[in-house]
Amino acid sequence: MLLKINNLQKHYRKNIALHNISLTLTPGIYGLVGPNGAGKSTILKMLVGLLHPTSGSILFDNGQWKRSSLSQIGALIEAPALYGNLTARENLLVHTKLLGIPDTRIDEVLQIVDLKDTGKKRASQFSLGMKQRLGIAIALLNNPKLLILDEPTNGLDPFGIQELRELI
Ligand code: ADP
Ligand code: MG
Repeated sequence: MLLKINNLQKHYRKNIALHNISLTLTPGIYGLVGPNGAGKSTILKMLVGLLHPTSGSILFDNGQWKRSSLSQIGALIEAPALYGNLTARENLLVHTKLLGIPDTRIDEVLQIVDLKDTGKKRASQFSLGMKQRLGIAIALLNNPKLLILDEPTNGLDPFGIQELRELI
């Protein structure tokens, strides 16, 4: 069991965004499907500690989810948070420092997302697809057991969507 969610609820003041969600995932690839506003991002944000559940529990890797679980979780939630004035490599370097990971991992993730040749170009000058790829590279840095991608194809053209599917 990689992830187990029990009776998760999230209230934003009077708005009940999640009402008793339970699910159990073993290792694999899963998609969370539902209309806009269904609560998908709300669930994913709780898995990365961006939101606290109103009630219910999250088990990760057979233990209670805790902040230190994040060393084994990688995430791209909606649009990636990038430093626009830094290159792809520099953006990744910031994250390796924060995570305490050797910077040799940077080339590996750049290779995976096919962003090795962006050189001195700054992230603010990247296309949407390149930004998403860099976001995925950041999410992959810690070689996570659980990789969360929330609408990673947002804003991409049909070719970009196809490429991202193949990448996943
Ligand atoms: P999805 O990702 O499935 O489109 P969300 O999880 O973003 O849906 O939103 C679920 C519900 O929670 C919606 O009704 C949305 O309006 C509400 N919601 C999301 N974020 C907030 C917030 N920060 N404050 C108040 N309500 C929110
Ligand atoms: Mg969403």
